[in-house]
Amino acid sequence: MPCGWVWALRQNFSTVREHTRVLANHSGLRKNLIVDFHMHTCCSDGQLTPRELIDLAAARGCEQIAITDHDSVAAYAQLADQVMPMRLIRGCEFSTQWQGREVHIVGLNLDLQNIDLVAGLQSQRNAREVRGGRIAELLAKQGFTDALAGASALAAGASLGRPHFARYLVARGAVPSLQQAFKRYLGVGKPAYVRTEWANLEQICAWIDAAGGIAVLAHPLKYKMTLTKLRSLLVAFKDVGGGAMEVISGAQQTAQTSQMARLSKQFQLQASVGSDFHQPGQPWAALGRVAQLPDDCAPVWSNW
Ligand SMILES: [Zn+2]
Ligand SMILES: [Zn+2]
Repeated sequence: MPCGWVWALRQNFSTVREHTRVLANHSGLRKNLIVDFHMHTCCSDGQLTPRELIDLAAARGCEQIAITDHDSVAAYAQLADQVMPMRLIRGCEFSTQWQGREVHIVGLNLDLQNIDLVAGLQSQRNAREVRGGRIAELLAKQGFTDALAGASALAAGASLGRPHFARYLVARGAVPSLQQAFKRYLGVGKPAYVRTEWANLEQICAWIDAAGGIAVLAHPLKYKMTLTKLRSLLVAFKDVGGGAMEVISGAQQTAQTSQMARLSKQFQLQASVGSDFHQPGQPWAALGRVAQLPDDCAPVWSNW
């Protein structure tokens, strides 16, 4: 178990208890539940095992969470038959493209046995493997001949992603940091950048729908789109059955939250909340510590 977050946990524990007490006074309002519907384990590019993540979320007082690994639901198999200290909503974060940009869709409340979903996840895994092979070929041209083996070893069975190649480049001493790995090799327009052929928005929403879940547009502000562009994305997303958007993703300014809340109402999308937690100490948000939804938003958790 990594020791860094245990320390952080101890530091924060009394604050959590106070926070929970305040919320208990408003327990009639479902919006005041402590929830977090976007987080990653080491089954994708997160640092903690599924069990460590559950224990951390429990220590933070989370009442409902969803683990949303990239194109993987392997965490849920690892947690099968274990007693959960909170309500665990089955989820997954799907990668897709829209108008040439990578966009992420979180599926929540999924039936993980659904055959359309299972087949869809397999096709996303295939796309990931093809991309991994292409990145390795391009890195070989840059002199890194064992990139696939190196990145796969770091992934340790998790879905292979660009962050694993970035970690490989850091471990090789080729770059000083993960950011530099993207800046020099893996980012858009760099020598080892590969565009992945993910399933399109419509297919992904169809898998989520088939599995009885709700499709949520992940971290809308992260795409750095103009408001006009983001509106077009929301129109396209609604058209193919999108049902919700993350009104709160990680740490954001109040004005940004108000803007996202306005969009969710305009497009009649329910509102979700998620930290996009990957590891303890990440700068953008701590697990289970996301702000509450504005009062006039329709919480996505009213579905379950
Ligand atoms: Zn994402
Ligand atoms: Zn994520």
